[in-house]
Amino acid sequence: MEEKAKAPRPFRQLAFLLRSLDGKSYKAYLEIKGAFAFSDFILFIDHVQGDPFAPPSHLRVRVPQKVAKFPPHLFSNRARRVALEDFLIRKFSQALEEASRKRGTGRSGLFRTTELSPAVLERTAARVTPEWIEVRFFAGLPAKGRRISGKEAEEMLIEDIPWAVHRSLFYSSLDPQEVENHVDTVEDAEAIRAQLPELGIVAFIADGSILPRETGVSERPLPKAVPFLSPPTLAVVVETPHRGKIRGLGIPKGVTLIVGGGYHGKSTLLKALAMGVYPHIPGDGRELVVTDPTAMFVRAEDGRAVACVDISPFISDLPDGTNTRYFSTQNASGSTSQAANIMEALEAGAKVLLFDEDTSATNFLIRDGRMQSLVSKDKEPITPLIDLVKILHKDKGVSSILVMGGSGDYLDVADTVILMDRYRPYDVTKEAREITRRFPTIRNPEAPSGAFSLSSLRIPLPESVKPRGKAKIKAERDWLIYGREEIDLTRVHQIAETGQVRAIGAILMHLAERFLDGKRSLPEVLDRIEKLMDEEGLDAAVRSKAGDYSRPRRFEIAAALNRLRTLKCRVIPL
Ligand code: ADP
Ligand code: MG
Repeated sequence: MEEKAKAPRPFRQLAFLLRSLDGKSYKAYLEIKGAFAFSDFILFIDHVQGDPFAPPSHLRVRVPQKVAKFPPHLFSNRARRVALEDFLIRKFSQALEEASRKRGTGRSGLFRTTELSPAVLERTAARVTPEWIEVRFFAGLPAKGRRISGKEAEEMLIEDIPWAVHRSLFYSSLDPQEVENHVDTVEDAEAIRAQLPELGIVAFIADGSILPRETGVSERPLPKAVPFLSPPTLAVVVETPHRGKIRGLGIPKGVTLIVGGGYHGKSTLLKALAMGVYPHIPGDGRELVVTDPTAMFVRAEDGRAVACVDISPFISDLPDGTNTRYFSTQNASGSTSQAANIMEALEAGAKVLLFDEDTSATNFLIRDGRMQSLVSKDKEPITPLIDLVKILHKDKGVSSILVMGGSGDYLDVADTVILMDRYRPYDVTKEAREITRRFPTIRNPEAPSGAFSLSSLRIPLPESVKPRGKAKIKAERDWLIYGREEIDLTRVHQIAETGQVRAIGAILMHLAERFLDGKRSLPEVLDRIEKLMDEEGLDAAVRSKAGDYSRPRRFEIAAALNRLRTLKCRVIPL
């Protein structure tokens, strides 16, 4: 997005303006909207808040590479550029935080950037090009009561911002080793991701990785954690551009069980795999935990709405006669919601599914031999996952990784069995085979004879995706307020930060207005919005210049759309 705006005014004019505005009504701040040339960068004031309590003003700084001087090898490909952008916004954010302090009413004097999780994501907060670098941020323009505090504003805009820019956006003020390491780490992770298919694995966890987090609500690594160490039989060696050969555990394609006693680190491993779809910053502990980019964590989610999803491979013949080929509800049960979550993940293109027994519906996972004897198949609408998980791999090439401490019947369907014992993984596949021979199961497979396939295409109807009421979007990590609707994302686990939710909101609106036409299928629409993000950037997809959007995966865009309670689809049988 290039601005055709007027030439920037000299920064002295900004200082002069601020002095003349001192004591005037807050609205007069509008006069400082525009661009100002400092000696070595340009400050853009893109949006001026209406009052000191309103969301803060939108600012941008652009530094020409002539002065910023980042060596081109730091942004020579996409992974490296995104990593450098991530590094710069973190550094700039730290510098701003030091300068941020209360200077009057409401948000007066506060600086902030977008919330930054340890995932390295494409964000609207930073851009690096061969010509310039740009960061976007927010500032509370200072006031006393509702009157402009010109002196404080001058301090913020004329002193603090240049100070933060000089400290964090000039290559010469940064530690070259630290920048290099940040960029190289992300490139190494992406290089590993590119090798997964040829190695026949769906995930890689480097030896020495630290998987657990400090607390349930923190993203920091747990201090003194037991470092990850692959058992020899599952160890693979990957090639990285900057670290050379690295050994770690490779999770093979197919069906993998993670077994072990309670509290031995099973769920922690699965969560690390779930977040392994994103690269992580150095020091996170999971920077070399790399998962197939299409992996989707799938859980039970009773109460969610479902719009015309074919859940018939898992659920058919409901007692009320509901057609499960086009299943719609405003209040799904544990098992129907989990079936819908799987089918929607497949529809969006997931090739790896992650399950944790902690968050799955028991009757969805398993029906054991005794229960089969007591309740005959014709009285049970659910075909449990245990009978479909192998077919899913054989027919659709979709691998599954399941945390399963409770049901030994699953040993029959597993290609690989990993035992977690005191946070260390062991390969117990052989022992598991031996056990299935010695203690054959008494359950009967219940899989339908036909192949596992999607029977229909869903076409989302544009009217049903348009926000009702005001076109308002408000994002939290777990919730998206979309017009009058609230989209519950508390059980969509692979969202790294709020900026992704904000972007999803803007993208849904964009989809409703431009992409959905009552003819395009959901996967086609996801392809198109991804193409737009790849070719024209996140800015173009969210249609905003604000610096608090982070790029979501197609899977989370689909997840939010699927949870929108007004969603209606037309269905085309295949
Ligand atoms: P499980 O799913 O097997 O019951 P969890 O993964 O929930 O176990 O882990 C149980 C506890 O152990 C958690 O508090 C977690 O933070 C901690 N933990 C997990 N992995 C490690 C590790 N490698 N080192 C130290 N503590 C760990
Ligand atoms: Mg667990």
